[in-house]
Amino acid sequence: MEKTLVLIKPDGVARGLCGEIISRFERRGLRILALKMMTLSREQAYNHYAEHQGKPFFDGLIDFITSGPLVAMVVGGENAIKVVRTMMGPTDPAGAAPGTIRGDFALSVDNNVIHGSDSASSAMREIDLFFAAHEIMK
Ligand code: UDP
Repeated sequence: MEKTLVLIKPDGVARGLCGEIISRFERRGLRILALKMMTLSREQAYNHYAEHQGKPFFDGLIDFITSGPLVAMVVGGENAIKVVRTMMGPTDPAGAAPGTIRGDFALSVDNNVIHGSDSASSAMREIDLFFAAHEIMK
């Protein structure tokens, strides 16, 4: 079963969107294999977003992702990485279609509610950053 890391970012948690978002994945037939709420340290945030270090939006992104509790999940299923990315919609919600999570709940690239791994290698790396192997259901 393919696995991907999903984060409901601090804006999504603060706005009470966790149930709605988790429900969409469950209704689609994906499985929640691990789930926790946590506030990221700056070090955890740097590691998660290492590929964006040096970009103009990096400092703001770190401030935002550490600003409050987020929900981290491992989501599994056939083609889970691609299915989750399609359900999320594109990074900039301005171009996200209605029916996608960002298209229904977000307006700005800085506050775009959700993260999903973008490839098999990032999924493996990101799942390892957030969960120990024993925390992930089979
Ligand atoms: N981001 C931002 N400003 C930008 C581009 C990206 O704040 O101009 C943030 C945004 O929260 C995005 C995250 O950086 O979700 C990671 O960017 P990426 O390109 O990996 O997008 P994603 O995979 O989240 O769609």
